[in-house]
Amino acid sequence: MSKPFLIVVHDAAPLFEAELAAIFEQLNQRVGPRFSCAVVPNWHDEFRWDRNSGVASLLKHCDELLLHGWIHRRAASLSPVSWLAGRPDEFNGLTPAVIQQRIDWGLGELRGALDLQPNGMIPPAWQLPVSSPDVSGLDYVMRFRRLESCSDASSAVRLATWSWDWGRLRLFEWPGDWFGSLQHWLEPSVVPCVAIHPVDVPHGWLPRIDGLVQKFLDNGFTPVTPGELMASGTS
Ligand SMILES: [Zn+2]
Repeated sequence: MSKPFLIVVHDAAPLFEAELAAIFEQLNQRVGPRFSCAVVPNWHDEFRWDRNSGVASLLKHCDELLLHGWIHRRAASLSPVSWLAGRPDEFNGLTPAVIQQRIDWGLGELRGALDLQPNGMIPPAWQLPVSSPDVSGLDYVMRFRRLESCSDASSAVRLATWSWDWGRLRLFEWPGDWFGSLQHWLEPSVVPCVAIHPVDVPHGWLPRIDGLVQKFLDNGFTPVTPGELMASGTS
């Protein structure tokens, strides 16, 4: 697999229908369905999916779906970093058994109620305080800097992630852009990963994201999904 790169839409939940529609339209024009989407089954314990809704039908226009936690919110935390980010780090502070229970609930909802078949997960805020092989029901876990197999601890693909959503930390939006560029410049062999969030739409980042995706295409990169990358054994 020569020069792969990833595009992943985060925070797919029914309340973001308008933003997701704008992101999907832009990506479908640029790369067709060659991207993946991280789905939150029960956003903030308030928004469940209706499989017949318009927002659910959007999910058919990307090549791979990933689980993205259960409710995407940490119940309570004294961590100022968690608070500043909007408490998206659902799994931090939980025991491994409770984390697995939430993964099972999420997979049950997506596979049962929605008839979706995610094989991988992006933990909310990329925070998963257990090792990937200790998670069951999934083939792989995508962290901020690595795509890890759940069956083989030694099998991982290193990533350079661009992200613009840092919760209340809007000052971090540009550094989030620069961090991906810096990491990829320091280590050109790592796989670029463009992480897009619904809030990037009102914050005005879509044109910049479109330009970045086009730049990868112009430079000979091929959009792939995390499952394809994991199967290829690229490291
Ligand atoms: Zn998220």
